[in-house]
Amino acid sequence: MELAQRVQALTPSSTLAITAKAKELKQEGHDVIGLGAGEPDFNTPQYILEAAKKAMDEGMTKYTPSGGIPELRKAIVDKLKRDQDLTYEEDQVIVTTGAKHALFTLFQVLLNPGDEVVIPAPYWVSYPEQVKLAGGKPVFVSAEENNDFKLTKDQLKSAISPKTKAVIINSPSNPTGMMYSREELEALGEVAKEEDLLVVSDEIYEKLIYTEDPHVSMAQLSEDLYNRTIIINGVSKSHSMTGWRIGYAVGDKAIIKAMTSMASHSTSNPTSIAQYGALAAYTNSEEEVERMRDAFSERLDAFYEKLTRLPGVSCVKPKGAFYLFPNVKEAAVNCGFRDVDDFVKTLLEEEKVALVPGSGFGAEENVRLSYATSMDNLDEAAERIKTFIENHQ
Ligand code: PLP
Repeated sequence: MELAQRVQALTPSSTLAITAKAKELKQEGHDVIGLGAGEPDFNTPQYILEAAKKAMDEGMTKYTPSGGIPELRKAIVDKLKRDQDLTYEEDQVIVTTGAKHALFTLFQVLLNPGDEVVIPAPYWVSYPEQVKLAGGKPVFVSAEENNDFKLTKDQLKSAISPKTKAVIINSPSNPTGMMYSREELEALGEVAKEEDLLVVSDEIYEKLIYTEDPHVSMAQLSEDLYNRTIIINGVSKSHSMTGWRIGYAVGDKAIIKAMTSMASHSTSNPTSIAQYGALAAYTNSEEEVERMRDAFSERLDAFYEKLTRLPGVSCVKPKGAFYLFPNVKEAAVNCGFRDVDDFVKTLLEEEKVALVPGSGFGAEENVRLSYATSMDNLDEAAERIKTFIENHQ
């Protein structure tokens, strides 16, 4: 049976090959250090587990409204007011099956065939595929490493065509960890206004910031930008709840209504029990969130220091998320490898350290390392990479 064209156009996940290889080596009994993870390594906080158990015991195990239980939508409205001084009504919120499905549904309701979405590279792997699945066309713009991987106003302008409908802003970013300042967002926001673009603001790493710089959302900058921004967020990264699959989108009422209608025919609703867990996440103290953030911050400092001492490796210091995205081109070339993909593959084979090549994120000279793992693992990984480079020079 021939598969639909939309599936044939999908790019297989670049992380898959390396993950499969790492798994194979582990099964053979090798001591593999995996730095590919896109999820916090902490348990979900206890008070969230308790809330979900209570929900189950009390029979909250049935369908819910497609857009999410009203209590959770209200808690999200309160969170946005508390954290970002943003005012939304509950019908501007949809709770989704993870932030990923919020994005997926948004592109489905937004794009007609051929509509373009500007995606700054390096980008999170799912953006281009989701745009393509909705019939749209991803338009990539390379944000320069010497500009900390940030898109500039001129770059955004040059990517615009009459078909451009939206731009994706992911701050802090996966995979680079960079974060836009208010001024930088204001400059990009001017283009969004001039060109009448929707801004898709993926803020999933909002709570994982390791500098004094405040997190700023495009929606906070002006009434115009508030109206043209859809914020995407969720509990996966902030509360270590990746498996619960709870995210949300907020913004323009008509868009949220269309998304809710779409969700009613696809997921029906996000898992009821998980919604009660997320409700506890948003209505309790953030002590646990801060504890996890502090642990990430410590690991970042230690690992960054070790990594940047390696010959041929340079790295923009991330401000948020839990990834490092060093440029290893020089190290790869000096070691005689064809390219960075080859460097990554051989590193796994010889030293049993699994990284993700940057090619899948639109940056061929870089690799992504996640520090969502123990300090011991990070120390050991840095030693092994050092040995690997030394052995090949
Ligand atoms: N956006 C970015 C930038 C991410 O890195 C991820 C997860 O890796 C998501 C969205 C999706 O998160 P969720 O687990 O809520 O679907």
